[in-house]
Amino acid sequence: MKFGIRLRLLLAAVFPAIVVVSLLLFGFLDRHAADLVEALRDRGLASARQLGVAAEFPLFANHTEGLQRLTDAAMAGDRQIVAAAIYSAEGKSRSVSGRFSSPPPPLSAREESIVGNTLRVVVPIRAAAPVDDPFSDAGLAASSGGQGALLGYAVVELSLEVLNKQKRDLLNWSFATTFVGLLIAVMLSTLIAASVTRPIDHISRVVARIGEGELTTRTDVGKTGALASLARGIDAMAAQVAVTQDELRQQVALATEELRQQKEAAELTARVDPLTGLASRRAFTEKAEIEMLRSSRYGVPLSLIMIDLDHFKAINDNHGHPTGDAVLVSFARTLTQVVREVDVIGRLGGEEFAVLLPDTGAAEAVQAAERMRQAVAGSSLYVRGQQLSYSASFGVAAFDQTELSLSEFLARADAALYRAKAEGRNRVALADAPA
Ligand code: GH3
Ligand code: MG
Ligand code: MG
Repeated sequence: MKFGIRLRLLLAAVFPAIVVVSLLLFGFLDRHAADLVEALRDRGLASARQLGVAAEFPLFANHTEGLQRLTDAAMAGDRQIVAAAIYSAEGKSRSVSGRFSSPPPPLSAREESIVGNTLRVVVPIRAAAPVDDPFSDAGLAASSGGQGALLGYAVVELSLEVLNKQKRDLLNWSFATTFVGLLIAVMLSTLIAASVTRPIDHISRVVARIGEGELTTRTDVGKTGALASLARGIDAMAAQVAVTQDELRQQVALATEELRQQKEAAELTARVDPLTGLASRRAFTEKAEIEMLRSSRYGVPLSLIMIDLDHFKAINDNHGHPTGDAVLVSFARTLTQVVREVDVIGRLGGEEFAVLLPDTGAAEAVQAAERMRQAVAGSSLYVRGQQLSYSASFGVAAFDQTELSLSEFLARADAALYRAKAEGRNRVALADAPA
């Protein structure tokens, strides 16, 4: 993947360079090769013309030695000339220096040809402007075309070796330049590709780590290069996610704590009677069951006192329900002052209460109940300037190990309470042992 991007970027940068350079190279080579041939041709033509001009008189005078000197001199004057020759107008060889690569073709007015490694140039030799005979052939030719009579031909053959070497050099130089250019292009493209892929690699790694939950991970500014703004964006995003996660965590913790407090409050509410602050029926029941088990196991005594306020309905009726509530609160406070620390007072409902007395036998429980009764009867509260007294009846039951449930235990204490009521209220009655 990483390599793929790098390769594609590299190709994207190098491919157009290769195409452009190749086109330029071929154009350049083609043009320059043509120029080189043209230059050599001009040179050959110049040499042949020069030879032709010089050969004009010796040819006219049929001076063979002079012609030979001329072709020799032509060869000596230019290293690239491998052969030089002068032919008569009829095409007969008059002087030859050097060696022609092939026999001369039928000579025409103007000829040039490339044969293998040589270039052959033929220039017709004409007499200079006619002088005194305007009716001669040469004179006619001169008057019609500005040229004298055809005296012969100068033929020069040039070696193409230098030209080919120049071509080879040109080719080598072009390829070397192209190669160096492409090498630079590849290096630059590699650098450019790296400048893009390296930051991408780095940023991808950081993003992957953030994705794995490492929200404190940030990009390294030095490694993000041209993609610095993208990296900054990702950093900001990670920071925002971290903040959001922190906020969520805090909110969850807060909600959890709230729930815990609510649960605690609900449990407390379920265990505490809101009006009197005494144990609720549920809390009292649990405590009583535990104490019954303890009593059964260790044989320690346990007693229960059921209490019901006397004529409480009348208090409500005469003084109002709020006063009734105040009486209940006052009653609870009086009881709490009288009982021991280990005793548990519960409000079983309405104006019915119960006291659990661990490690207490029947006689002691009756005494305790009597103490309570007296305390209640002796207490009073003021309602709108009026003193209000009240009393309660008490049913005492001592736990018997044959009793299997709390309800049985409570029922016996309740029966004793019923008896206390029946016997005139404001009194204590002791329950019978279970049958
Ligand atoms: P007894 O001596 O036979 O017990 O007579 P009583 O009037 O107390 O009779 P009973 O037990 O039937 O009446 C209980 C009354 O207590 C009835 C109800 O209106 C009242 N009561 C119950 N719960 C509350 C309470 O929370 N607040 C107030 N103010 N009154 C309550
Ligand atoms: Mg009652
Ligand atoms: Mg009552």
